[in-house]
Amino acid sequence: MPPPIHLALIGAGITGTTLSLALTRRGIPHTVYEQAAQPTELGAGLGFGPNAARAMAIADPRVGEVFLRECVRRDVRRGGDNGEGVGEPVWIEFLDGTVDGDDGEGDGGVEGVEPVFRVFARYGEGHGAVHRAKWLEVLMGMVPEGVVQFGKRLEGVERVGERVVLRFGDGTTAEADAVIGCDGVKSKVREIMLGGTEAEGAKCGYSGKYAYRCMIPRDQAVRELGVERVGVSSLWMGHGRHVLTFPVGKPGEQFLNLVAFVTDSSESWPSQDARSFTLPATREDALRDFEEGGFGKTVQRLLRLTKDKMDKWGLFDLADRPLPKFYSDRILVIGDAAHASTPHHGSGAGFCMEDVAVLASLLEEDIQGDDASPIDGLQAMFAAFDASRRERDQWLVQSSRRAADLYQWRLPNTGRDNFEVMRKDIETRQAVCWGIDLEKAIREAREDLRRRKCTPK
Ligand SMILES: Cc1cc2nc3c(=O)[nH]c(=O)nc-3n(C[C@H](O)[C@H](O)[C@H](O)COP(=O)(O)OP(=O)(O)OC[C@H]3O[C@@H](n4cnc5c(N)ncnc54)[C@H](O)[C@@H]3O)c2cc1C
Repeated sequence: MPPPIHLALIGAGITGTTLSLALTRRGIPHTVYEQAAQPTELGAGLGFGPNAARAMAIADPRVGEVFLRECVRRDVRRGGDNGEGVGEPVWIEFLDGTVDGDDGEGDGGVEGVEPVFRVFARYGEGHGAVHRAKWLEVLMGMVPEGVVQFGKRLEGVERVGERVVLRFGDGTTAEADAVIGCDGVKSKVREIMLGGTEAEGAKCGYSGKYAYRCMIPRDQAVRELGVERVGVSSLWMGHGRHVLTFPVGKPGEQFLNLVAFVTDSSESWPSQDARSFTLPATREDALRDFEEGGFGKTVQRLLRLTKDKMDKWGLFDLADRPLPKFYSDRILVIGDAAHASTPHHGSGAGFCMEDVAVLASLLEEDIQGDDASPIDGLQAMFAAFDASRRERDQWLVQSSRRAADLYQWRLPNTGRDNFEVMRKDIETRQAVCWGIDLEKAIREAREDLRRRKCTPK
């Protein structure tokens, strides 16, 4: 028997934890090293699409099932009886945020403005949202004990003979055959793989947009917006800003997840600490930003529901410095570590799930293959992963930036006179996100891996 490979996964976020479950299912030995002392995720919403749901099911059918059971479905409203999408489930209703809504006097609640167009939730089931921290808890609950080691901040990786030695902040070391960086937007693994902090692509760049995030208790949101609007995903558009809301949480602890995005007038992120992507802010800051953008009363009432003190998140990505390759020698990066994106297609984590499904399937192929040692196949496997994923992952990064400029009427042919053009544009891009034939992509990646392994070095 060839010696089994042992993989070191860095980061127990949504990518690392799901990959761990996928590897466990396939009997592939690994350890996950996480810098935090315990599982850490935000109390914020996370939306997924059918591509992500399929990817989760391929990674580990239990994850796919739990997701469909736990998520708040986003496709509850159906298209009307005129125009496109009759009877079809709606993904997001797009509204003109610069219009004042009904002030609610006399009827106990503002209904908001009517949508100017809808984008439909196509390509199968899985249009749903989860509470991030609770979802990570669910995933972590399925990981066998001892697989994740907390309090292990990776600081260095060295190749020693046929193995790699990992060095952690607590002074300890560990060995593995290869390292999979699942360590997110500020990835240390990416930095190491590229050869240091100054290398092109080692650090993400500021996208020029920031966001206020808040989870509003559902009852409060219903009082302001009415039950109809709170039950669906809504996106209020306008000049240089937009607001996204969608429901998350189980009955009894339901919230309206709100993210208010602003195009920054300054080109750089003003934090003194280069590693910090958040800055303290207040509700008044958010209200001022949206007033400056000419937003109407409905959006202002919505923003008044946010907390008086909240963080402002700088949105960083790899749009201006895409990685030439996702791997080098014994190191591979996946998820946000490889393709950190702004969130405007609601698909960043979904693409991370696709990465996991493809990588786990390739590793399975590698292990089942007739190699003398799976270690010999690692390079071919990383190359096959890169060939399968990089173009699509990097498309998301670029397209997401464009989507935000579309929602914020910053592009030609956007704004009030162009809603139909905008709807078609968004629909076409979401089709790319959701419509991937993942089974076919995995089949092709596995064939590619077999070919690469047969090609003499
Ligand atoms: C405002 C906003 C809204 C978003 N909304 C959505 C959405 O609705 N839908 C969607 O699909 N995507 C969304 N995204 C994108 C999504 O959040 C990311 O794609 C996803 O969280 C990436 O997961 P990850 O596990 O790759 O990285 P992370 O979640 O960043 O996890 C990385 C993990 O690695 C650990 N780590 C980091 N460095 C080290 C180290 N040196 N050693 C050990 N451990 C380390 C971290 O502690 C962390 O646990 C949004 C993003 C933003 C900013």
